[in-house]
Amino acid sequence: MLDDAGLQALREAARLSPDNLPLRRHLADQLLSKGYLAEAEAEFRAALVLAPKDPDISAGLAEAFVRQSSFGPALSALEPFLGTPGYPPRLGVLAARALLGEGETAAAAHRYHDAVTRDPSLADPALAARLAAPPPTPYGNASTGGAAYDAPSPATPSPEPSAEVERSRFTFEDVAGMEAVKEALKVKLLLPIQQPELFAAFGKRAGGGVLLYGPPGAGKTHLARAAAGELGASFVNVGLADILDMYVGSSERNLRATFDLARRNRPCVLFFDEVDALAARRSDMRQAHSRQIVNQFLAELDGVDQDANEGVLVLAATNAPWYIDVAFRRPGRFDQLVFVPPPDASARAAILRILCRDKPIAEMDFGAVARVTEHFVGADLKGVVDRAVEAKLQQSISAGRAIPLSTPDLLTAAKSVRPTSVREWMATARNYVMHANDSGAWDELMPWIKAKW
Ligand code: ADP
Repeated sequence: MLDDAGLQALREAARLSPDNLPLRRHLADQLLSKGYLAEAEAEFRAALVLAPKDPDISAGLAEAFVRQSSFGPALSALEPFLGTPGYPPRLGVLAARALLGEGETAAAAHRYHDAVTRDPSLADPALAARLAAPPPTPYGNASTGGAAYDAPSPATPSPEPSAEVERSRFTFEDVAGMEAVKEALKVKLLLPIQQPELFAAFGKRAGGGVLLYGPPGAGKTHLARAAAGELGASFVNVGLADILDMYVGSSERNLRATFDLARRNRPCVLFFDEVDALAARRSDMRQAHSRQIVNQFLAELDGVDQDANEGVLVLAATNAPWYIDVAFRRPGRFDQLVFVPPPDASARAAILRILCRDKPIAEMDFGAVARVTEHFVGADLKGVVDRAVEAKLQQSISAGRAIPLSTPDLLTAAKSVRPTSVREWMATARNYVMHANDSGAWDELMPWIKAKW
């Protein structure tokens, strides 16, 4: 396997000869084997543009998806081959893993046994054992097609939502840097509520949501929570587990119950994390019930009547905005896209200052720590501070007194934290949006992906 320098050289070579198919395939295979899954996915996609019918590239793409638990897209990548007699058995095993991930155990077992009968070297005892277990979901059927959709009837009472109502203790003061992002949110969310006359004078209504996107850990959730605090609104943080349910129809009911919870607690910031899983392009969705969640989400955003979502500000976050169905970006829905960038050195110093605010500290050179943490995002910096605090706590316990945190503690901790791969995220973003910015939707992102990472 290549070392990191070799991989970097390969990346560089592929960047210089983007149409060299063997090179791109090799890069994609290397990325996959080294576990750079998002970047591998983007490379396989790029290779597939050059050779759309290549089963090996599709298999690579599907494997990258499966290993990221994106089972629906994996099946979409494999589907063109699975219907043809004598398709490569390796694709069958991948399909089995994806189907199992989707809860379609019977169909998965069928694919697996067919593949292994044709090529016994593909046998995977761990997978076989999982396939032998009783199916956990009621909606898997034996065919590879979608399960029948059982629409929730309007009369069905909404279940109790599992998301909870919070009061945020953070405001924009607790969010370091991101001045442009905070300003955009103020105009969009806060001013219409704080100065309704001004908005009315210009014939504008409050409403519509904001989609925050950027690399993981850059502070999207923190920002949404701070927006709620800034506004004095309640905050409902909705994770995927609050909505997605293995029972067909239940996810739609959960979604409706969550919107109702926000409406009962207005003014409210309703925040959807990882929204790409709920709002993915319907064309990417293989199954009717997944498409139905998207439709339900759109219906809730639009509201049954004009005032249904009055006082409910919908924010959503995603690391993969390119997967979001364009219907979500129409006026009144997520009509504003806001890029949450990775922090530069001065923002990193400011984040560290905020994170250390309530800890015993000696004099601290946050700038020095910021300089050695290039490419670290907020979540990584939080990891650095947490680690340094743990170490200090151990020392304080042995010494029998509180020893304050100092610059060397943070510098030492920084060495042991592996940062989120912002570079990988930028490479993926570049592949998706570089040639797809006709509408100007990605203008904010462009200077970032054009920069060297
Ligand atoms: P994301 O939602 O983008 O994945 P989070 O909002 O969960 O990232 O960020 C993780 C943590 O990093 C937050 O809980 C917060 O403590 C810290 N953090 C991130 N960005 C900032 C920031 N700009 N200012 C202060 N803290 C931040």
